[in-house]
Amino acid sequence: MSVDERPTMSISFLKVLDVYGKFIKYNKLRSKLILSQLYCRNNQTKLHTESRWEERLGLESNFKWQHIWKNGLDSYASIKAKNFQWKFLYNAIFTEHRLSLMGLSNGLCILCKTHHENLIHLFCDCEKVKPFWEEANRIINRALNAIGYPSVTFSAQNIALGYNPHKFSNVINTLIFETKWYIWKYRNDTKFSIRPLQIQSFVFFLKADLKNIFSHKCHGEESNEIFQYIKDGI
Ligand SMILES: [Zn+2]
Repeated sequence: MSVDERPTMSISFLKVLDVYGKFIKYNKLRSKLILSQLYCRNNQTKLHTESRWEERLGLESNFKWQHIWKNGLDSYASIKAKNFQWKFLYNAIFTEHRLSLMGLSNGLCILCKTHHENLIHLFCDCEKVKPFWEEANRIINRALNAIGYPSVTFSAQNIALGYNPHKFSNVINTLIFETKWYIWKYRNDTKFSIRPLQIQSFVFFLKADLKNIFSHKCHGEESNEIFQYIKDGI
């Protein structure tokens, strides 16, 4: 088939509405905009995964979920970290606990080899991932303090769902989601590599990625002094 014979697809049949119910012109369509429509949950039916998280974290049953689903999208995290957060919310991460339910693992944490490896243990409680959170906390609090905001701490709820509400939720969530993504990479490297890297290497890679993200933000349209403080503190 020559190039000219290739079938083409027109998106003119697509009618995407904005939040006010108006059609969005095709030339104004952006992937971020389309994703925001997909992430926006209008119906009030609670998802199964939302009930599970409420149980795990001891949340009120009237917990507001709408902004939690947008946290990933609104953050400045990489696509991989955003996707990972999306899977995390849907409980679609194959931890050892998950594999043990299928008879494929003893369920023990790959990193500490002591506790049961579920999402909360691996990402929040495991002693072996503390260096990641200490570094993420140091970076964000240095920047927040520099512009007159109090320090923040990352609870299990913040780590699992994101940090809300806060003027700099997008920034804080960027650090949380990127850190989780690097914890997962570190954990997989420990599980699958013949010669796994040390945790310090992954903390170094995480910081390099964060520096890259916030360096770009410093020169972007929505530049803010907190971006500069974060970049300088890494
Ligand atoms: Zn552990």
